[in-house]
Amino acid sequence: MLVKCNCNNCSAHLEFESGRAGAVIACPKCGIETTLYIPGNGAGQKPQTASQIRKGKLKLGLIVAACTMFLGLAALLIINWKSIILPLSRTFGGTVVAVFMMILAVLVLIWAVLWIIFPVFVYYQLNELIVSGGTKVVES
Ligand SMILES: [Zn+2]
Repeated sequence: MLVKCNCNNCSAHLEFESGRAGAVIACPKCGIETTLYIPGNGAGQKPQTASQIRKGKLKLGLIVAACTMFLGLAALLIINWKSIILPLSRTFGGTVVAVFMMILAVLVLIWAVLWIIFPVFVYYQLNELIVSGGTKVVES
């Protein structure tokens, strides 16, 4: 059954399959996220859905993971100071240069890991586009 609701942001009339009520989509008219709801049941009054909260948690988890990874690598570096920094300082001609090179290497490593995680995010965004693709703006 097709039902109509209004975009939470621009009030555009959206038509969608009633089974998708509660889904968060990018509004086809204004592009801002909106929650599909069946008019009259009050679901539209809760624009922050579980999906949005989950996404926020995912972001926080990533930041925590990156920080933990950085701290872990820093700890590993300090523990193995003699076996890593000392030979490096001999190679690069100074402890400061050696430490700088190690920080650079760690940053590159984090960057590389982020690039592995990045496609997962793209996939996530793509899913949303596919979901919103089935919704059309009804001119009234
Ligand atoms: Zn809109």
